[in-house]
Amino acid sequence: MPSLDQLNFTNRFAALPLDFYSKVMPQGISDPYLIAVSKSCAGMFELSGTESDQFLAVMSGNQILPQMQPLAALYSGHQFGVYNPQLGDGRALLLGDITTSQGSHFDIQLKGAGTTPYSRSADGRAVLRSSIREFLCSEAMAGLGIPTTRALSLIGSDMPIYREEVETAAVVSRIAPSHVRFGSFEIFHYTNREQHVKQLADHVISNHLPDLQALENPYAGLLQYAVTTTANTIAQWQAVGFCHGVMNTDNMSILGITIDYGPFAFLDDYQPKFICNHSDNSGRYAFDQQPAIGLWNLNALAHALSTLVSKEEIIASLALYEPQLVTSFSAIMRSKLGLTSEHDSDQALISGLFDLMANNRSDYTNTFRSLAHFAEDGNNESLRNNFIDRQAFDVWAKQYSVRLAIENSTDAIRSKAMNKVNPKFILRNYLAQNAIDAANRKDFSEIQNLLAVLSAPFDEHSEFEHYANSPPDWGKTLEISCSS
Ligand code: AMP
Ligand code: MG
Repeated sequence: MPSLDQLNFTNRFAALPLDFYSKVMPQGISDPYLIAVSKSCAGMFELSGTESDQFLAVMSGNQILPQMQPLAALYSGHQFGVYNPQLGDGRALLLGDITTSQGSHFDIQLKGAGTTPYSRSADGRAVLRSSIREFLCSEAMAGLGIPTTRALSLIGSDMPIYREEVETAAVVSRIAPSHVRFGSFEIFHYTNREQHVKQLADHVISNHLPDLQALENPYAGLLQYAVTTTANTIAQWQAVGFCHGVMNTDNMSILGITIDYGPFAFLDDYQPKFICNHSDNSGRYAFDQQPAIGLWNLNALAHALSTLVSKEEIIASLALYEPQLVTSFSAIMRSKLGLTSEHDSDQALISGLFDLMANNRSDYTNTFRSLAHFAEDGNNESLRNNFIDRQAFDVWAKQYSVRLAIENSTDAIRSKAMNKVNPKFILRNYLAQNAIDAANRKDFSEIQNLLAVLSAPFDEHSEFEHYANSPPDWGKTLEISCSS
């Protein structure tokens, strides 16, 4: 079990020319304290010593190890549909990337460790509130089995940070195979540096997707990979009720993993048009828009790769998106309903349930979880009571019973399988807010408890039953905005 200084830093991103990044030293925080560590994230690279002084010093940005080559990466991107020519890591920096004994690669990034050449007029910091949300959501998404950047540690400080009010600073260490974004390619394409587009694509392919090298056009393979993984990830977001909130192309990973947790939310009651980002006035990133925005963003990526990938290859790659998303989403939905086979009527059954939930403002997560109690023989009184329009439920329940009759399952077997795909716990905004309020009083127990529960969201955790509750009235109207 290596400690931080025993990890094998290979720093492959830093081996790229300086056109791709700026060398930047982290600016630490005063009197840092460890708030939380994700043991499961540490386990990905068998890291030990997360309680040590060295770990605290490095992960707060107060110390770097000789084998690290800290840098802030350059990128641009389309923000709310408008091209912004210069973004880049304004408050994140890569300490270095490591190769594990198994040959896996991970970037270790700090978020909130001070300014970089890309900070523009901002302070390069992250407040405790948004850092708690990013830390917990990263680990919650991993617990749900959704591709995501991970969070290793959350470190706090009493150092003041000025937002609308005075808040305090925190640093999250973020882990991912790569932090390369769609916008990392866009910046070079739009400044006519096509050699750099190629060099970055080669970097991603050789380090992360070496199998693509065998293809006739590995770059077309890279685009296809981004298309299909993005489609799969967004299918999983839609199935679990996750709303990202800022699907700008600088917040889209070339590996199709969820990245950049800001004003995200999980749906409480099912509102397909839910807008989680208070700054998103037009609803561009509303929950039901996410699949279409995924394709819009992939078009932007394809444009950036257009000197490497032919028009025909672009058309063929983008054409994979919708069928992939629909196939993935339908497969997940069938499993959420406990269906093991495929039937023509499934689509109508699934959309019937969504209509019922939308009309009844049903809690998204709890409705799916409670379907595990559905009795094929029609004795569903307690489930029925969850719906205001009981007759509409009866109509749907009848269809569901008929469908279940052609399945080769029993209530008990089906229920067990469904509980493995319908989470009991999600990071509801009000739960995150409770953890934030407690942390502001220096009580970090809510963060610890949520971390434990959300890392295994399909388990019962009977001692934490209350975390499965739908929100109290105050928790339904929390306003969360961009960068904080
Ligand atoms: P986001 O919406 O959080 O993905 O951020 C968009 C851009 O603004 C990125 O280039 C960030 O690095 C930058 N940014 C956000 N907050 C800050 C901050 N406090 N200091 C410096 N840069 C920031
Ligand atoms: Mg971002």
